[in-house]
Amino acid sequence: MDAFMLIDNHNRKINYLRLAVTDRCNLRCNYCMPSEGINFSKNDKLFTIDELTRLSKIMVEMGVDKIRLTGGEPFVRKDLMVLLRQLTTLDGLQDISITTNATLIGPYIDELKELGIKNINVSLDAINRETFERITRRDQYDTVHNNLIRLITEGFNVRINFIALEHQNIQDILPILELMKHYPVSVRFLEEMPFNGGSKKFNTIAWDYKRILEHIQSEYPEIEQLESPKTSTSINYKIKGHAGTFGLIPSFTRTFCGSCNRLRISATGDVITCLYGKPKMNLRTLMRNENAEENVKKEILRAVGSRAKTGFEAQEKHTGVFDSSMTSIGG
Ligand code: SAM
Ligand code: SF4
Repeated sequence: MDAFMLIDNHNRKINYLRLAVTDRCNLRCNYCMPSEGINFSKNDKLFTIDELTRLSKIMVEMGVDKIRLTGGEPFVRKDLMVLLRQLTTLDGLQDISITTNATLIGPYIDELKELGIKNINVSLDAINRETFERITRRDQYDTVHNNLIRLITEGFNVRINFIALEHQNIQDILPILELMKHYPVSVRFLEEMPFNGGSKKFNTIAWDYKRILEHIQSEYPEIEQLESPKTSTSINYKIKGHAGTFGLIPSFTRTFCGSCNRLRISATGDVITCLYGKPKMNLRTLMRNENAEENVKKEILRAVGSRAKTGFEAQEKHTGVFDSSMTSIGG
């Protein structure tokens, strides 16, 4: 086996990289950051497109075969398509996916198609305009809905990420399933996590995956659980008569940690081996110095060599509450 293969200290193979390309965003989702935003990084603290490509290549050489671009909002980076084009040339990279709020993707849909990028996760937590605007604190409802429908009808493999937020969007859970009834999409309901820039603190959540499921079952008693890959974070179901599926992601309850196959690199180069842990190290300087490739490989191996087994174990090492925002972690 290659000495640089990414296998953690619990013998889990890591083949999935979530790479944040920026921490900036044009929305201000209230579960993600405060209304004034966070202290966004200066440009020189962000990787350049060339650095992101080189880093991705290094990771692919270490066994990564799936990269998801995230952020912040990936499409606020004007040069995102340059990166995507370069990623499509990496041998061994089988899946390039994007997580987006779908506000800015419109002009790039044709090019994405041409590049063969198929998997797009759209974050959408409301089907009602007022609810959407209250949550995102921005007036982008029509653009997002138009882009979402375009992506679906153009044949992309679309998954909608919907965070169940008490007192905010619970009333939209059943309607979004009904609205998507005839579309081949997966609507995934996520538990809220405490990464919102510290503006809201909580230790329990009212809407965990079991409660979301009960709520859905009250309207749709005929649901069937589907087989999911071992490393999947979602428990997936089919509703009789619906073209698509829905999923539950216990991101707060953390039922899936044991088979975690992912590594995160933030837009500023932090290596995050667990969402609930502190960054293990930063790659920015290493990437900018001599022998970058070898040194980055060594350091990443070191980071995955001391990985917490579960999010609960990672959390134990945290003192106090979480004050980071998903916009810098990448989700
Ligand atoms: N801006 C893009 C978007 O919203 O899709 C990509 C970055 S966003 C940080 C990635 C994912 O993290 C989104 O699906 C978002 O809903 C999720 N997210 C952000 N804050 C969260 C929180 N506090 N709990 C759970 N998920 C969160
Ligand atoms: Fe922006 Fe995504 Fe965070 Fe919403 S969830 S504020 S779209 S980074």
